[in-house]
Amino acid sequence: MSGPRKLAAGCALAVAMLACRGGSSSTTGATGPTGPAAGTPTRQASANPKLVVLLVLDQWPAWAFENKRAALLAERGGFARLLAEGEWHTGEHPSIATLTAPGHAVLGTGRPPSESGILANAWYHRDTNKRMHATEGSDGTPSAEWLRVSGLGDAFTARGGKAVGISLKDRASILLLGHAGTPIWIDKKALAFATTGTPPAWLQTLNGSRPIEPKLSTVWTPSVSPARLAELSGTIDAQPGEFGQKYGFGTTFPYDPKKATDPTDAMMGTPVANTLLVDVALAALAGEQLGADATPDLLAVSFSAHDYIGHGWGHESWEMWDMTLRLDREIARLLTALDDKVGAGQWAMAVTSDHGASPLPETMNGGRISYDQILDATRRAANAELGSGEWILDTKYPTVFIAPQIFAIKNERDRNTAIKKIMFSLRAFPGIARVERAADFVGNCEARPPDARAICRALDPERSGDIVYLPKPGWVLHESDDPVGTGHGSPHDYDRLVPLILLPPGRSAHAPDAAARGRVDLMTLADTLAGYGKAPAPRTLPR
Ligand SMILES: [Zn+2]
Repeated sequence: MSGPRKLAAGCALAVAMLACRGGSSSTTGATGPTGPAAGTPTRQASANPKLVVLLVLDQWPAWAFENKRAALLAERGGFARLLAEGEWHTGEHPSIATLTAPGHAVLGTGRPPSESGILANAWYHRDTNKRMHATEGSDGTPSAEWLRVSGLGDAFTARGGKAVGISLKDRASILLLGHAGTPIWIDKKALAFATTGTPPAWLQTLNGSRPIEPKLSTVWTPSVSPARLAELSGTIDAQPGEFGQKYGFGTTFPYDPKKATDPTDAMMGTPVANTLLVDVALAALAGEQLGADATPDLLAVSFSAHDYIGHGWGHESWEMWDMTLRLDREIARLLTALDDKVGAGQWAMAVTSDHGASPLPETMNGGRISYDQILDATRRAANAELGSGEWILDTKYPTVFIAPQIFAIKNERDRNTAIKKIMFSLRAFPGIARVERAADFVGNCEARPPDARAICRALDPERSGDIVYLPKPGWVLHESDDPVGTGHGSPHDYDRLVPLILLPPGRSAHAPDAAARGRVDLMTLADTLAGYGKAPAPRTLPR
């Protein structure tokens, strides 16, 4: 994999914009409904934005955006405006841990799992002998307890600004911010938006209006004709490989949350969930007075439904196309609101993703592996060698945790044989490409060659498991009780490369880029966004 470049420091300065974007200085472009992009144009954005916005489309592969980009430009909605005002790059995630929690931690802190300590969405904790979610504190409530470093919330509040993170998922909103600011997510039991600590008054008012309930009655039907979806996607509604959702959504429209076994989960995998998050973002703008004074604030929004729909039906599906067309309009609504409330050109933005995804395995000559299959195979191998016992503690990607009793085997040869047998059982899977001892890849990451570096950056010497395994291209991992169409969690480009659209301070509208401008190391994004808001780089803050 070729080395991504860092963002030029001068990109944050209006005077450097011409050099930054290679001389593109056209101010034609977004000029209202008759121009290439709807919305209010920004002839020359302020060099001192009052609000910095980070939008995350959860599970948004670079390849999928490239497939949809021409159609989105023709729509003249939110994406067209982003491309006419922004710099379109390919963002590169730094490690093999292409998963939601580590990915959001990369975006929010600039650190890979080896430094953030956020290894996966959930991992086995050796000291307490249980698997815990990435943002599940030791007292059971959502928190950033396991995050070893500071993030954008810490950076913006350090200078007296405010920071709000919004998502359906607690891990997404918390890890975009770090240890300070106001993360907001859906509490499914309460059917309300939750935060750490006491909810601010505006959030209590919002919850008092019960905004989630009506969404449960919203049946998802396509926003354009079936013929148009067929034309856009080049496939049928129920193409081979689509699964739908475990709560009873199949592979063809329409989808009615009320008919699902879990209406709230079902609703969160439909486009109204994006509408809901934009509604919360607008309420936060007003309630927190984001961007109202000269001290820059931060607003981060992570669109989780994008991930659920990707998993269920794949990115080539009618469902993902329809969700994208609808999200296009929601992003346009948000951009217009930012112009109205904060002021045209008074905000800066980045739009990117926590990880990509594989095309449907059926199109890749790939397949699917459940974690129970991995657990069964490794347990059988260990039992055959060592006798019946609890030898395997956890198998969640990217590592298998082995019981400490194996490492306590006194005879070195017996010990190594047992570990090798477990590794051989993983290598026997047709969909597993590589199996390694984690200890061989821990530490000194930056000095290692690219493949080993990407493994090293995923490993925390204290917290990680003992055996690393990597799927082959087109093979996706999933929980046995949660079948998928597609997935993510691999070292492959389809998981590591995501779109990155930057709308920096001092920008001006221009013709949309014909091709992505080159790779950007996503570990630089948090410091770049802090720089947009004249906040200290998260990397420089103590923790
Ligand atoms: Zn994700």
